[in-house]
Amino acid sequence: MTTSSVFGRPLSLSLSLILRKIKLVYPSSTQSHLLFPSSTNLYTQLSIIMTTPLKHSYFPFRSSSSSSSTALYDEDQDQVPANTSHQMDQIAERTFLNYKISKHDHTSGSGSGGMGIAIVWFRNDLRVLDNEALFTASISSQKVLPLYCLDPRIFNSTTHYFGFPKTGALRAQFLIECLVDLKKNLIKLGLNLLIRHGKPEEIIPNLVKEFGAHTVFAHKETCSEEVNVERLVSICLQKMALASPAGPSTHPTSTNSAKLQLIWGATMYHIDDLPFNISCFPDVYTQFRKSVESKSKVRGCIKIPSSLGPPPSIGDWGHVPSLDQLGFHEQKVNKGMRFVGGESAALSRVNEYFWKKDLLRIYKETRNGMLGPDYSTKFSPWLASGSLSPRFIYEEVRRYEKERQSNDSTYWVLFELIWRDYFRFLSIKYGNSLFHLGGPRKVKSSWSQNQLLFEAWRDGRTGYPLIDANMKELAITGFVSNRGRQIVCSFLVRDMGIDWRMGAEWFEACLLDYDPCSNYGNWTYGAGVGNDPREDRYFSIPKQAQTYDSEGKYVAYWLPELEALPKEKRHFPGDLYIKQIVPLKYGNYHKNNSNKDSDIAERNTRSQGRKFKGYQR
Ligand SMILES: Cc1cc2nc3c(=O)[nH]c(=O)nc-3n(C[C@H](O)[C@H](O)[C@H](O)COP(=O)(O)OP(=O)(O)OC[C@H]3O[C@@H](n4cnc5c(N)ncnc54)[C@H](O)[C@@H]3O)c2cc1C
Repeated sequence: MTTSSVFGRPLSLSLSLILRKIKLVYPSSTQSHLLFPSSTNLYTQLSIIMTTPLKHSYFPFRSSSSSSSTALYDEDQDQVPANTSHQMDQIAERTFLNYKISKHDHTSGSGSGGMGIAIVWFRNDLRVLDNEALFTASISSQKVLPLYCLDPRIFNSTTHYFGFPKTGALRAQFLIECLVDLKKNLIKLGLNLLIRHGKPEEIIPNLVKEFGAHTVFAHKETCSEEVNVERLVSICLQKMALASPAGPSTHPTSTNSAKLQLIWGATMYHIDDLPFNISCFPDVYTQFRKSVESKSKVRGCIKIPSSLGPPPSIGDWGHVPSLDQLGFHEQKVNKGMRFVGGESAALSRVNEYFWKKDLLRIYKETRNGMLGPDYSTKFSPWLASGSLSPRFIYEEVRRYEKERQSNDSTYWVLFELIWRDYFRFLSIKYGNSLFHLGGPRKVKSSWSQNQLLFEAWRDGRTGYPLIDANMKELAITGFVSNRGRQIVCSFLVRDMGIDWRMGAEWFEACLLDYDPCSNYGNWTYGAGVGNDPREDRYFSIPKQAQTYDSEGKYVAYWLPELEALPKEKRHFPGDLYIKQIVPLKYGNYHKNNSNKDSDIAERNTRSQGRKFKGYQR
């Protein structure tokens, strides 16, 4: 057995731990395919996990032991961040302390500055630091009522065209952990988090009525499904005001004229600070970046009022449900990275990556890696749930530059966060075209919806280890590197010719960091229907394998059957691995642009399997 290492552990040791674990998890079996599902049963297992319908529509509330941050940790995988829950709490408390407003500073908001009750409707902003909705509510009201709605359209629904679970079990688990942590941090600040099951447009008006709230504060979203919920909440509040015997009132503390106040807070650059109107938003990333870098400033983080309580008197605040109570089957992460949800974990990861491991200094050189927690920041799952603010990352980068060093790598993290901003603003300019087949550029081209090819891609059995390894990592952990995402996207759309939306929706189901703007923005980009000046981006597998996994460590980690092969054979094992499902469009990268291969791929792609029925978003 080889002595090469995975995540710094000798592989032989890793394998013996894995085998021991199989016996623990499956006492009657020593078959490794149960732990590393074989190519044919991976989706079957996942789809059982992800599509099992809700057992009850309303659950008896109880606190969840499975949502404890260390519950799923085991020695065969890397927890991100690596801290214990106690250490994470300590890091969060230290950070909060640095961002607290002094009790004496009444003018800038130490809580209870205004009148009446305000509701803070938490959405994808599951944090207390740099949360303008929470802050504004606290300075404009006497009491604050924080609320989270477990919306069935998020937790028990399917993706738009192809019917995958809207939220997979791994993201649901991550979000549960975010809520547990948010509730804990709000309680420390003298508040609490009211957890309700149902649609915000039904829950919020009832709460407004019950507590006489004057304003509902929430963060603004930009994509249609989320914007539609905002619209419905607003309409219901207006209807309530009209139905009130006193009619609508303009008094700020009136109980019959509550309004929804939406606040911008998801990006590093604030929308109001952009040097152009959204309608004139530059289509090309570089133009956007140069423009904001030269003409805009990143705002400072919004501070935390020293005390936010006491909250309104509520008999039952509700508990964060367990995965099971939400209708999911637990999906243990036994291999690869296991992310811990919540703001405390997010702040600990920033601390770990920047300060403890000092990895920011080399980010630009390592960011294209694929194996282990250290090659890139791994901030995206917390950014997507809003447990981490991009402005906090910005401030930490600047602090690091002052206290340690400033170099290309420190800048490059900000460069990447500008990509995130870019896709968020682009989603406002281009609206639903981001989800349409032709994308923002309305490109007319024919795509296949070949089920057999798609399933081979989805389940990681294309016969190309680099594709298969990335797809297995996605399904097993909910995370894939940026390099891996670009490679599997290119393979699906260019080598297989499959409708890019099938890939995007599969990512939507699986990713911990799913965010409609970044996901569909990147997919339209990769499919050549977005705003990429290089429309025909092709990622050649031999070249990518050679450059980013030259020793085949990544593929051997996810496909242990390749481990015994010599390094140079791992990416193209021939008969020792599954048969390649399609030829590469450009064949071997040494003989570029082979039209013959391209024709074969096209023909294979279009002739097999049944088609999905598509409809317009
Ligand atoms: C097909 C495809 C789909 C994607 N879907 C998503 C998604 O749903 N959600 C998501 O957050 N990212 C998405 N990305 C972007 C990117 O792959 C991830 O943000 C990145 O891999 C997360 O890892 P990290 O936090 O270690 O990134 P790092 O390399 O450490 O980058 C730091 C941060 O910059 C931002 N960032 C970096 N690259 C991009 C990018 N290309 N687009 C937008 N933001 C970026 C992220 O917020 C990231 O956390 C997608 C990329 C592709 C090619």
